[in-house]
Amino acid sequence: MRQPLVIANWKMHGKGAFNQALVSDFLALLKEYRAACVLCPPTVYLGQVAQLLGSRDVMLGAQDCSHIDEGAYTGEVSAEMLRDCGCEWVIVGHSERRQYHQESDALLAAKLTRAQRAGLTPVLCVGETQEQREAGAAEHVVKAQLLGALSDLSDLKGLAIAYEPVWAIGTGLTATPEQAQDMHAFIRSVLREFDAANADALRILYGGSVKAGNAAELFAQTDIDGALVGGASLDAEAFAAIVSAA
Ligand code: 13P
Repeated sequence: MRQPLVIANWKMHGKGAFNQALVSDFLALLKEYRAACVLCPPTVYLGQVAQLLGSRDVMLGAQDCSHIDEGAYTGEVSAEMLRDCGCEWVIVGHSERRQYHQESDALLAAKLTRAQRAGLTPVLCVGETQEQREAGAAEHVVKAQLLGALSDLSDLKGLAIAYEPVWAIGTGLTATPEQAQDMHAFIRSVLREFDAANADALRILYGGSVKAGNAAELFAQTDIDGALVGGASLDAEAFAAIVSAA
């Protein structure tokens, strides 16, 4: 039985006063839930959010980490630094990083290794574009992204996957529960080929316009183990409702 996992990806949103109100409202609204829950604010606010979370059972994550341990790499933030700031999770290979920062599968493979070595659990993001789906290449693309990024790992322990179809991110277009389930089942079949012993325990999250109104039907699917939430995670009420639905 996989415990559901719901992760907030604030992306490049937030400021001190906004974050304070968002986190305290969210914590006040969060009553009964069985999901594990993670907040990923922008890096500069990790310390603030760690303090706001206090002893509550909500974890801290980062949106990215460096593929290098340390050194003269201006602007980079290492996985160890994130761990040192209280992070337990890190998002790796979000489509916005692949698109705007040209992150390759080989780079992501290095990030996964660094993250795990630092004691973080990476959430590897995969997903096809609209053109790729229309060309019938969605599964091919997702499989290549998975195998490319996992190439340096010997097993699937200490890892989660997020399937985020690029055409559903921030567009209001959600994959139907059936479309999402089909891809999640496909991802799990690829993972079983990679590491049969651990593929069934690994959580596969769905991301792309998840809202309070569509979360429950997505979570009802066999291979959807939670969500990676963008826009709706900036609204305390909506995000609390999503966490409670898992
Ligand atoms: P939205 O929920 O805003 O569509 O974003 C999804 C996403 O990219 C989460 O990482």
